Amino acid sequence: ETVVNRIAAGEIIQRPANALKEMLENSLDAGSTSIQVTVKDGGLKLLKIQDNGSGINKEDFAIVCERFTTSKLQKFEDLNAIGTFGFRGEALASISHVAHLTIITKTVEMQCAYKSSYHNGKLVGASKPCAGTQGTQIVVEDLFYNVPTRRNALKSPSDEHNRIIEVITRFAVHNASVGFSLKKLNDNGSDVRTSPNSTQEDNIRILYGHAVAKDLIKLNVEDPVLKVKVNGLISNVDYAGAKFTMLLFINHRLVDSTPLKRALDSVYATYLAKGKHPFVYLSIEIAPNCVDVNVHPTKHEVHFLNEDAIIHKIQSTADILLKNAST
Ligand code: ADP
Ligand code: MG
Repeated sequence: ETVVNRIAAGEIIQRPANALKEMLENSLDAGSTSIQVTVKDGGLKLLKIQDNGSGINKEDFAIVCERFTTSKLQKFEDLNAIGTFGFRGEALASISHVAHLTIITKTVEMQCAYKSSYHNGKLVGASKPCAGTQGTQIVVEDLFYNVPTRRNALKSPSDEHNRIIEVITRFAVHNASVGFSLKKLNDNGSDVRTSPNSTQEDNIRILYGHAVAKDLIKLNVEDPVLKVKVNGLISNVDYAGAKFTMLLFINHRLVDSTPLKRALDSVYATYLAKGKHPFVYLSIEIAPNCVDVNVHPTKHEVHFLNEDAIIHKIQSTADILLKNAST
């Protein structure tokens, strides 16, 4: 049974960057304004996330790593909210099957922090009082130590590190009010650093460079019939990147959409030389019950109701904006 669980867990948590994405979402769900990530060997040896969020209640210590256990449903009157991402209660459970997982957490009510270790979905021994500030620290060590096939399928630690940079960079742009940092263990420098209460434009400049950030065009779409709201920042036709960079969040979850990417690429194709690409950041909000409920954590591609119409609307809006900006 544990072998089956381990294989299932390895499907959900495919690499360090996936684990990090899940944990960043948890930290944000907990209302954090500061999130610090420390890694070693591309997150394979160590992946540590410290946040200053709500912390975890003592009565939940025993169950946080149980599969399909989540504290997040009771907060939503509308059960359709299950259809949104991140309410699956699978991330920590999966991680505990394929790594050594330790959680240090303190809520505002607790006198001190508590440290708990988890293995195969279960709390190991008792939670121990320890020093710690309000918030949660999740420590993931030796990821895939017991799944050699998964471990061997990964590229080099430096490649995994780059994927981690990419994930945290995207979250930092989308969540500009939150301060993020990414460091390698025992390294004084940091690979990502943003301040709380920044703007998205500031963070794009800091993280993607001045060439991208200058002359960004604001894209806003609101359509009550399609029940969609889109906010974005897209590059001007003067910016021509070597690759298409699209940061896409749907209902604040980092996802991918190939049809949307294609649609935007074709808008820019009239302006940019062959092989030159835009930078696009889009945040789409749709009713939770319009997002594909079958979206699996491993499938970053997302589908949603009225997808073609929504993509078309974004495409035509971008087209007009670029036309106006280039005249
Ligand atoms: P889900 O996010 O779908 O509920 P997870 O496996 O990601 O499932 O997390 C399980 C539970 O652990 C969450 O519901 C939450 O109660 C708790 N949790 C995890 N990370 C944090 C965190 N950083 N701060 C507060 N609570 C957390
Ligand atoms: Mg989660």
